[in-house]
Amino acid sequence: MKARVAVLAGDGIGPEVIAEGLRCLHAIAELFGHEFELIPLPFGGAAIDSHADPLPERTLSACRAADAVLLGAVGGPQWAAPQAALRPEEGLLRLRAALGTFANLRPVKVHAALADASTLKAEVVHGVDLLFVRELTGGIYFGDKHRDAHRATDVCSYTAAEIERITRVAGRLAQSRRRRLTSIDKANVLETSRLWREVCTRVVAREFPDLTLEHVLVDAAAMHLIRAPRDFDVLLTENLFGDILTDEAAMLAGSLGLLPSACLGEGRRGIYEPIHGSAPDIAGRGIANPYGTILSVALLLRHSLELGAEAAALEQAVEAALGDGARTSDIAPAGTRALSTREAGEAVISRLQRPG
Ligand code: NAD
Repeated sequence: MKARVAVLAGDGIGPEVIAEGLRCLHAIAELFGHEFELIPLPFGGAAIDSHADPLPERTLSACRAADAVLLGAVGGPQWAAPQAALRPEEGLLRLRAALGTFANLRPVKVHAALADASTLKAEVVHGVDLLFVRELTGGIYFGDKHRDAHRATDVCSYTAAEIERITRVAGRLAQSRRRRLTSIDKANVLETSRLWREVCTRVVAREFPDLTLEHVLVDAAAMHLIRAPRDFDVLLTENLFGDILTDEAAMLAGSLGLLPSACLGEGRRGIYEPIHGSAPDIAGRGIANPYGTILSVALLLRHSLELGAEAAALEQAVEAALGDGARTSDIAPAGTRALSTREAGEAVISRLQRPG
């Protein structure tokens, strides 16, 4: 197949990890006979410096015309002054809004070889394979805000239509996995959560009768996630709860550098990025972990290009590399030699195989 991918490397370690993601895409194209046009575009702090805009018009129109967007990370101390008029992170929010990506997917899989890398006990995290589906464009982050000297208000609002469409995304994904959907809310206190629970129950009953649906209060979910994380398959959350719980869940895997994410809208186009930031403390040293970016490339292949076999081949190559001890410094056991970013990318590419 032919596909066009907009590549927004961004700042800090962004370009370093994206370079490995792109080498994997090239390797997949060669192995499976595809033609991927990869279009590098200015974005984030780098684009503030070059275009006085974190999301230049040229970048946005190329993203709109692409089949998928692959993104590194944005930000850094040079653009973080309190009085700064332009911020790299603003580019991210504008991009998500412009592409209408309302569903954030964050898979958390604990690789067999890395159960020891987590701060939790290996027997608790071993075998964890869960997927968060977080609503990304509604709720308290986007409601009316007010503040005066004595009082501040943030309004949390959801429409039934917003809840229906995110439930459908989670329902379809649960059908492709272990068919268990856990919806997280605070229905004992919040009206938005009561609507969330009602709409979610209705959509699942009508459209996904083959799924097992359970509702869990957010406080109980936070506890359950570190007590028995293997119990979960797909977790559906509104925006604020998802923001908090996905960071908690990231720690099950041991390092921020391992985890991918996807932002999806109504169509097939999505934005794919590792969950970590630009890591200014290690940028430029060639030691960043590229696995989160490479696994984001796998999500891109699966969700935007509908290339499931290619996605699985890449995921298996990462699993094999980790199993053979190919570790960057964030996950290497003390006393062992850590791989560079480039060597870790190489370790994946050398293990890529066509299925069968
Ligand atoms: P961070 O994720 O950049 O780094 C946190 C810690 O994790 C650092 O010690 C870093 O070295 C380490 N780390 C992160 N990714 C790693 C990788 N791939 N390999 C090895 N170690 C890794 O978070 P931060 O330090 O809070 O933020 C730095 C900048 O990134 C800020 O400007 C922030 O706004 C931005 N940020 C951007 C995004 C994004 O682009 N989506 C997300 C989060 C933070």
